[in-house]
Amino acid sequence: MTPGSKTTATTGQSQKLIDLAETWSAHNYHPLPVVLTRGEGVWVYDPEGNRYMDMLSAYSALNHGHRHPRIVQALKDQADRITLTSRAFHNDLFGPLCEKLCRLAAKEMTLLMNSGAEAVETAIKTARKWGYRVKKVPGDKAEIIVCENNFHGRTTTIVGFSSEEQYREDFGPFTPGFRLIPYDDLQALERAITPNTIGFLVEPIQGEAGILMPKDGYLKKAAEICRKNRVLLIADEIQTGFGRTGKLFCCEHDGVVPDLIVVGKALGGGVLPVSAVIGGRDTLGLFRPGDHGSTFGGNTLSCAVAMAALDVLVEERLVDRSAETGAYFMKRLREIRTDRVKEIRGRGLLIGVEIKEEHGTARPYCEKLMELSILAKETHHQVIRFAPPLVMTREEADWALERIAQVLA
Ligand SMILES: *Cc1c(COP(=O)(O)O)cnc(C)c1O
Repeated sequence: MTPGSKTTATTGQSQKLIDLAETWSAHNYHPLPVVLTRGEGVWVYDPEGNRYMDMLSAYSALNHGHRHPRIVQALKDQADRITLTSRAFHNDLFGPLCEKLCRLAAKEMTLLMNSGAEAVETAIKTARKWGYRVKKVPGDKAEIIVCENNFHGRTTTIVGFSSEEQYREDFGPFTPGFRLIPYDDLQALERAITPNTIGFLVEPIQGEAGILMPKDGYLKKAAEICRKNRVLLIADEIQTGFGRTGKLFCCEHDGVVPDLIVVGKALGGGVLPVSAVIGGRDTLGLFRPGDHGSTFGGNTLSCAVAMAALDVLVEERLVDRSAETGAYFMKRLREIRTDRVKEIRGRGLLIGVEIKEEHGTARPYCEKLMELSILAKETHHQVIRFAPPLVMTREEADWALERIAQVLA
């Protein structure tokens, strides 16, 4: 063991638990060899008592940090009242949460689901319904434009329009009606639009693809092109929403209000899966009873948790804190003297550090960070993603930066 490094997490209890997972679960992930048994704020702990800083935040689902006391309290209080009614009946939190989401997003209607992928599917169905009912596209001809390197989830329809071969391989046949264009390419968008185009589904920053940022003004111009051609702009803010990039929604950096906003992840406060499509009466107002649904969508426990998550976001100024801490973090990262880094990019607390190919992939850097008690995950081979909970303090940022500098040097 190198001096200063901790007891390796993979001894004793941890190793046994990892072995169980390896033996009894499908290997659809490749986790770092660490077992987490407790969390608080930006910190998590393994069974051996080692402490780590969580700089992944469950892919931005933990914007509020682990076990935010107000969110956990809301969960407990609601668990003592009623947890699930189904939408066959009303419950006392569903309406208030829908109103809160709409007011935050300056929209008129919302449709609650559970996972992010379900919300994306909901947005696709909404756009198609609008296409047939309002734009009068001929039956089964509706087209949605999507971008290369997109990540919108893992259902068969969604992976069908992925440009990532591994996401598609062995899972066909796929749903037709999607057209792929390069990201950050306005001419390609204009060229791809036909009279049957109903929507443009886009991430304001491509998180899973390696924190890929479009040029300033891309979304603004894309919104204009969409409006001119009567195409719905559908922003997937599942990862970028709720303060992650230093604005409530990432589209705000470009002054854009999309027709449909797809949210998930942090809406559940790091506690439960809660997702939604937020939009106008002209689109979401087209749904009639029986058109679409989800047994757990809008359940009382999720509503209570999401209400608390939104309240905490506003009252604890997490959006501004993300912008402030993010700017500081990025500045300090850029000051690190290293020749291994190709580029540092991001917004707010969604930051990617791209490693030069001649210095290997990002994975060994993440493993080294883990030895120094920082949990970060590579995304797309060359990029280390730093996306800590937005509640991170300046001192916690300094603690992390010191260790990151050590690993990059
Ligand atoms: C995580 C993510 C999804 C999928 O969300 P799940 O809850 O995993 O289904 C969709 N879009 C983006 C941009 C995401 O980051």
